[in-house]
Amino acid sequence: MSMVFDHVTLGQRVLFGSGRAADNLAAEVDRLGAERVMVIAGRSELTVAQKITRKIDVAIYHDDVAPHVPIANADRARAVTTEHRIDLLVCIGGGSTTGLAKAVALTTGLPIVAIPTTYAGSEATNVWGITESARKTTGVDNSVLPETVIYDATLTLSLPVNLSAASGLNAVAHCIDSMWAPRADPINRALAGEGIRSLAAGLPVVKNDPNDLAGREQALYGAYLSAVAFASAGSGLHHKVCHVLGGAYNLPHAETHATVLPYVLAFNAPAAPEAESRIAVAFGSTTAISGLNTLRDTLNAPRALKDYDLHEDSIPEAVALILPVVPDSNPRPVNAADLEELLRAAYTGDTSAW
Ligand code: NAD
Repeated sequence: MSMVFDHVTLGQRVLFGSGRAADNLAAEVDRLGAERVMVIAGRSELTVAQKITRKIDVAIYHDDVAPHVPIANADRARAVTTEHRIDLLVCIGGGSTTGLAKAVALTTGLPIVAIPTTYAGSEATNVWGITESARKTTGVDNSVLPETVIYDATLTLSLPVNLSAASGLNAVAHCIDSMWAPRADPINRALAGEGIRSLAAGLPVVKNDPNDLAGREQALYGAYLSAVAFASAGSGLHHKVCHVLGGAYNLPHAETHATVLPYVLAFNAPAAPEAESRIAVAFGSTTAISGLNTLRDTLNAPRALKDYDLHEDSIPEAVALILPVVPDSNPRPVNAADLEELLRAAYTGDTSAW
């Protein structure tokens, strides 16, 4: 088969090393010549942020972080950057914190150094999201791509086991969806395969012992690969389903991804044999779905959308919202009845027919 593809690799510096975040940050601030640094970190992330920033001058710490980046929070943060003549944003935290830094970069053009503490992966994408009047708008803009990402697995040690599992499965979802997303190609599929392998190796270790640094490093490395694959391949069916559910019904991000993923995989796998085989190999399993389900069982993953305040009555509306945004690239045609069946199964957590 001939190989024809059009691939874009986003330019970004990645510094990876446990226990090195403070030194790496100081070196980056120096290299970038920044003099007025704003550190963005949520209230629960502030202690760790103060530790990491001890070797740099900080103009202001900003902790006004909320899930899904409400526009009011973005506007307040933007005003602070003007008031304090900020020339560099440093964000330390999960996807919500990175998201706020991106919203500021979008209108100010300020560079970002991102120091992630979950496996969400926003730090490696040029995708931004802002919520206004209960509607989340997302967009793609290279100005929001962090200049540098500093990974330090010691910062993830405090991430509770259940959140580590859900967040890690969010990263697995980036990988699996990258196999059939609109811009899937041999490069991002290779990154996605290595991402699955690394996450499937690291997450069970984290579950068994949350303080095992080697397991945390594997998971963080896999999360980075998953985000690079996702940024390049774009949103597939799984991300479209989760985006609608998260936006319209305010469901928690990582848990929604962790719950919906096996249904999308089971739906698409028969129509995508090459992707199925790559995913199975990456899991070291006989089939893709058994590999994913084994990992989910090991992690005691979130099971049912009804546990996250989705009302069964909302399913027909959700189907109507998802249907028009199903990517043309999806390997299997999707109709309203398919989506209804998928969402009803994810709602109850019943995988028996999948
Ligand atoms: P989050 O950032 O909301 O964090 C979840 C919770 O974990 C928060 O309470 C946070 O304070 C806490 N936390 C974070 N790190 C911790 C640590 N090391 N120890 C203890 N507690 C910690 O959730 P998330 O799943 O990281 O990110 C979800 C958000 O990111 C969503 O808004 C999603 O849309 C966005 N996202 C964006 C992209 C993108 O490419 N733009 C990609 C993935 C996710």
